[in-house]
Amino acid sequence: MLFQLTRRAFIAVISGCLVIAAKTQDDLQGRLKRDMTILAGSEMAGRGNGQEGLNKAIDYVINSYKKIGIETEIQRFPYHFSNSKNEEPDGYFSNVIVTVKGCDPELNSQHVVIGAHLDHLGSRPSYGGGITIYHGADDNASGTAALMELVRYYQKNPPARTLLFIHFTGEEWGLHGSKYWVSHPTVDIKSVRFMVNLDMIGRFDPIKAVLTFTAMGMSPEAIAKAKAMAPKGMSVETDRGTSIFANASDHAPFAANNIPACFFFTGIHSDYHRPTDTVDKINWNGLTAITLYVQRFITEYAGREDIPEFQYRPNLGMDSEPGRKVRVWRVHQGGSAEAAGLKQGDILTHINDKAVGSPKDLERVLDLFSRGDRVKLKWDRDRIRMETEAVLQ
Ligand SMILES: [Zn+2]
Repeated sequence: MLFQLTRRAFIAVISGCLVIAAKTQDDLQGRLKRDMTILAGSEMAGRGNGQEGLNKAIDYVINSYKKIGIETEIQRFPYHFSNSKNEEPDGYFSNVIVTVKGCDPELNSQHVVIGAHLDHLGSRPSYGGGITIYHGADDNASGTAALMELVRYYQKNPPARTLLFIHFTGEEWGLHGSKYWVSHPTVDIKSVRFMVNLDMIGRFDPIKAVLTFTAMGMSPEAIAKAKAMAPKGMSVETDRGTSIFANASDHAPFAANNIPACFFFTGIHSDYHRPTDTVDKINWNGLTAITLYVQRFITEYAGREDIPEFQYRPNLGMDSEPGRKVRVWRVHQGGSAEAAGLKQGDILTHINDKAVGSPKDLERVLDLFSRGDRVKLKWDRDRIRMETEAVLQ
């Protein structure tokens, strides 16, 4: 009990560092709270794909914008269940899009996409009767509320390039909204210079004080700048696309289409995809600080004279589990790791003679090589040492 009390007091002090004490902060935090409380409330019933609650959430977002004179565009698209034999679609998803025209006539034909998924797991019948709501406060009412706030801010303060804000749906069923937008873009896809994704940014842990920043195809200089802009008391850890979470949200289809993309994330927790992901567990100071940080980052990035093209960095085509070893979580279809015969659970130990003891090590060692290099991989499978060659992709 004493430990809990001490820990709580410590949280109050540490999260206090993140507050940028000013009235505007209070207003911003108030709006984030209001939007999130409604989006993750019982009325929206978990915003499930194919369920009425998601339509209510879509209406809420559209009406909130309408009240302040912001127009939205709906991109409606069909879905088919993977086991469906119907020729007709089994249903429809909708992406909700807001455009903020850039203020520089030379640069405003270029776009920056900022996205957050609106859908979550919805409601399911409970064992023993009744309904269980998966509120999805962190996942992803947090990113949605932050996105709405960014729309409000940029409507009044447009940067040089045009911003496209997209509330994706179908994410929880397989990134359907972002995949559809990338294959049916509402603007010329070549004009999209960069993508920012907000998914689960509400559970900033004041003890660890880490915000994960997955950056795919971004230049090292841009990554360094982003890290340097981090709020006081927050350490921004980059993942350049080799972790278990790196391909698990809406930025991934953009990166796969060679659009530099990044993803802000406060990390996985024990309420993840459970009915207990509720608003009372949100770190409001953390969410407020992250929203403002992302805003500074977008302003800097969308306003700069030149945005670097997608930077290819050597890759093994696999995701690894977090931890002290490089344990394979998933090999990508058609990738180097698959061709080399690696499977889930294998522990990669060396690339040529360079030891890779952790996922961070793996990123560092991969950067010593170039795409197309033929390398020797060593790994352990059930304590048996294996070795083969692979070509870095
Ligand atoms: Zn989720």
